[in-house]
Amino acid sequence: MSGEQYDVVVVGSGASGGWVCKRLSEAGIKVALVDAGRRQSDSNFTEHEPDFKYKYRNRAWNLYTKSRPIQAGSCHESTLSWVANDLEEPYTTDPGMPFRWVGRVRITGGRTNLWGRHSYRFSDLDFKAASHDGYGEDWPLSYKDVEPYYDLVEEYVGVEGLAEGLPQLPDGKFQPAMNFTCVETLVRNGMKEKLGWTLTQGRLANLTRSVNGRAPCHYCGPCSRGCVTHSYFNSAFTTVADAVATGRCTLIPDAMAYKVLMDSGSNRAQGVLYIDRNTHEPHEVYGRAVVLCAQSLESVRILFNSADAQYPNGLANSSGVLGHYLMDHVWMGGGALGEFPQLPAKPQINGPNRPGGIYVPRFQNLPGGAKSKYLRGFGFQTWGDDPEPSYKAAGFGEAFKKKIMDEQPSRMLLRGFGECLPAWNNYIELDPEGKDVYGIPVLRIHMKYGENEHALIDAMADTATKMMEAAGAKTIKPYTVHDREPGLGIHEVGIARMGTDPKKSVLNQFQQSHDVKNVFVMDGAGFTSTACQNPTLTIMALAVRSTDYLMGEMKRGDI
Ligand SMILES: Cc1cc2nc3c(=O)[nH]c(=O)nc-3n(C[C@H](O)[C@H](O)[C@H](O)COP(=O)(O)OP(=O)(O)OC[C@H]3O[C@@H](n4cnc5c(N)ncnc54)[C@H](O)[C@@H]3O)c2cc1C
Ligand code: SF4
Repeated sequence: MSGEQYDVVVVGSGASGGWVCKRLSEAGIKVALVDAGRRQSDSNFTEHEPDFKYKYRNRAWNLYTKSRPIQAGSCHESTLSWVANDLEEPYTTDPGMPFRWVGRVRITGGRTNLWGRHSYRFSDLDFKAASHDGYGEDWPLSYKDVEPYYDLVEEYVGVEGLAEGLPQLPDGKFQPAMNFTCVETLVRNGMKEKLGWTLTQGRLANLTRSVNGRAPCHYCGPCSRGCVTHSYFNSAFTTVADAVATGRCTLIPDAMAYKVLMDSGSNRAQGVLYIDRNTHEPHEVYGRAVVLCAQSLESVRILFNSADAQYPNGLANSSGVLGHYLMDHVWMGGGALGEFPQLPAKPQINGPNRPGGIYVPRFQNLPGGAKSKYLRGFGFQTWGDDPEPSYKAAGFGEAFKKKIMDEQPSRMLLRGFGECLPAWNNYIELDPEGKDVYGIPVLRIHMKYGENEHALIDAMADTATKMMEAAGAKTIKPYTVHDREPGLGIHEVGIARMGTDPKKSVLNQFQQSHDVKNVFVMDGAGFTSTACQNPTLTIMALAVRSTDYLMGEMKRGDI
């Protein structure tokens, strides 16, 4: 063995990996953090820079995103180098089954550099969804098991929000909520009064009170370009920084994990083989346990690439389930735009810009309520009342200047986020032909939304219309997008699912492989179903819970 020896090797420095490293290293455990991205630093943050500073003014996407046609949608001209080069790191799909694998981040902190920060708890309606409606499998854990970890994560991360007392969306340890706009208040009140449904403040991982030296948000707006005051949660300047500060966590950047190294005699993982992204040289790093946190699709790709004589179909895949049940939220599949001329608003340039927006929690198929013709449900995310100057107004000179800043009706666009059912036929495998620029076999992704997801899309438009009517919108434009490509939800989960039965699942409730006891997958790959809430708060809470279990196993000498 030639590489350095640690206690635990963690792959991935994003939402899950950051927490695993923090928890382990603060408990005195020596950790190697292998991450494909380069180092993140405050000097890369550009949230206060105007677009005119950039060569293409952040406008000529077709020119500056030539190497990143898939990733382009999730980044700004200034953050292009934060995401993978799609030409160097391709993946393939079936003809007629497009999948947009967006958000392949290649910088410390992973997707938490770019995320929208909506942070919602799951409830037992989600963890025990199969018991409610008979479809799929229950998770091998319940809300009570995760609740203390939600508390712990929220208090450190800093999540602002309002307590609403809804069983389907448990309240958390919130910082004071941001304020609603006028149109949001109108819709919140109208909906509650006429329909009984709730519109609440988006529960965002954006600080409204200082935490651990991080300042409250000052509402400059473009969080996905970084934040010099560290006011939103990005694992690069929170969990990973804490872990590295212990002196026991070594961050190995620009390191593309290829496979888990196995000792087949003892059926134990020994470490990880990675390729240096700059030199393309292979390196090995060793530990008593390996924890994959590379984002679901990447982690499962590593497991497939770790196939050996004992596990010819992929490491930890004696069940044959690895790679199956891929899920991604039906993102903006349907909804409605409402206009409220009774609330005229003036556009503002460089005014305060509240990040995030509002949330309408699921109100369909609740226990004891009416049953819909579809299973599960959806929520809405959006914001209301932030009119843009009318740059395309007609005219010249003074008249034009006045016109672009004219008052406009307040608007609200409700955008549905729907649960995706786990289906065997939505799966990933290695492409037998393709390799990336590092020589690592790439994924072939097979996924399309089924009947239930399409029924949700129609229901999103119908119910959003009802909400706008209840709120008194004067113009209502419902919409549906039935050809929305999976992947755009950027919430891919489920391909190494947790369960109690090793024949039907890959991981146990602590995200530990049933087959190889010192291999864990602590990102979203273990999700048994996807709920309709954004996944990252749950990813983080589960990662902390599973890390505590791993430390117990190490103490007992079982790992
Ligand atoms: C634009 C955008 C908006 C989003 N909005 C929300 C939201 O509002 N709410 C929400 O809950 N979620 C949101 N998400 C999703 C959220 O960011 C992810 O769910 C979360 O970050 C996943 O955590 P993770 O630890 O699994 O992976 P990531 O945070 O992506 O971290 C994975 C890390 O692994 C590294 N890596 C990948 N492959 C390898 C490899 N082979 N070897 C070594 N390292 C590797 C990457 O460099 C990265 O640092 C959003 C994502 C994006 C991109
Ligand atoms: S809006 Fe707030 S969280 Fe976002 S970049 Fe500005 S200060 Fe940071």
